[in-house]
Amino acid sequence: MKAALITGFRTMEFIEFPEPTATPGKAVVRIDSCGICGTDLHGFLSKDPYNPAICGHEFSGTVSAVASDVRNVREGDRVVCGVSAACGRCPDCIAGRTNYCSYAFLNALGRDPLAPPHGAFAPAIAVDSLRLIRTQASLSTDQASIVEPATVAYHAVMRTLPMPGDVVVVQGCGPIGLLTIQVVRAAGAGRVVAVEPNELRRAKAIAVGADDAITPDEARERFGAKGADLVFECAGVAPTIQSAVEFVRRGGRVNLVGLASGAATISPQSWLIKEVTFIASLAYNHHDFVETMNLMADGRIKVEPLHDKTVGLSQLPETIAELADNPSSAIKVLVDPAL
Ligand SMILES: [Zn+2]
Ligand SMILES: [Zn+2]
Repeated sequence: MKAALITGFRTMEFIEFPEPTATPGKAVVRIDSCGICGTDLHGFLSKDPYNPAICGHEFSGTVSAVASDVRNVREGDRVVCGVSAACGRCPDCIAGRTNYCSYAFLNALGRDPLAPPHGAFAPAIAVDSLRLIRTQASLSTDQASIVEPATVAYHAVMRTLPMPGDVVVVQGCGPIGLLTIQVVRAAGAGRVVAVEPNELRRAKAIAVGADDAITPDEARERFGAKGADLVFECAGVAPTIQSAVEFVRRGGRVNLVGLASGAATISPQSWLIKEVTFIASLAYNHHDFVETMNLMADGRIKVEPLHDKTVGLSQLPETIAELADNPSSAIKVLVDPAL
């Protein structure tokens, strides 16, 4: 079996692996489809090695085999993949901080003995069965493959729930921003304003339910005098960390969702004068998946407007190079290994 891996700067190769088998604790998942994530694009453009276990981590599939000790899923189950539930045994779990279980964290990062040697840009993968969550029956395969990024947005909004009537800014309208707009709306925000330089993405923001979609310059004008109550930073580039604080009111809240690499320059004076509450949000916990799928099943999160196209595995190297050169050209491209 061949899996596509990022093996160097702008290099993706098909590497031969043995057919995955269900060794103790594991289930084999036949991949139905796998989304290309911004993290994969960062990995493709980085000169540092890219962790093979996360090269293709937004997948849905069907369980084709389980080890005899696996109880939570069985053959034929449609599943999505996230992080394990808290282990109950690591120092963080014992201290009562189960949301920060180090076992669940390392195993999702692919840095534990159960980590697969490749990701889901492959026909099949064997993973720790505890990471698998049964897909809501009413979700299509395409929807199921976008559950993982939707869960990132869900987790972020749960960290800074809006008050009813809050003016909420979502900065950056890539997949995570477009999903955050929908979750924050479902959570009871008043007015949701998307801030995004790209015109096509602004149109998508309106299509998924933002009240307004404006450019960063327009946002500076609109929120300069009276800031928003809550700002979600979903652009993931260094300069937008400071602009998120510029768009919030005094006493408001900023949630850092997008991952910017490298250092960012901030103006500490504006943070202090605004007495801003700054909260970061990383990925998700196991239970977030079930809640997110419920919101998708009842139509409060729509992922269809995010899905640009589906390509076969053989087209992945050229597709990833195109997206890396022009990341705004698509929101979410899925890879179907059966094509
Ligand atoms: Zn991702
Ligand atoms: Zn733990």
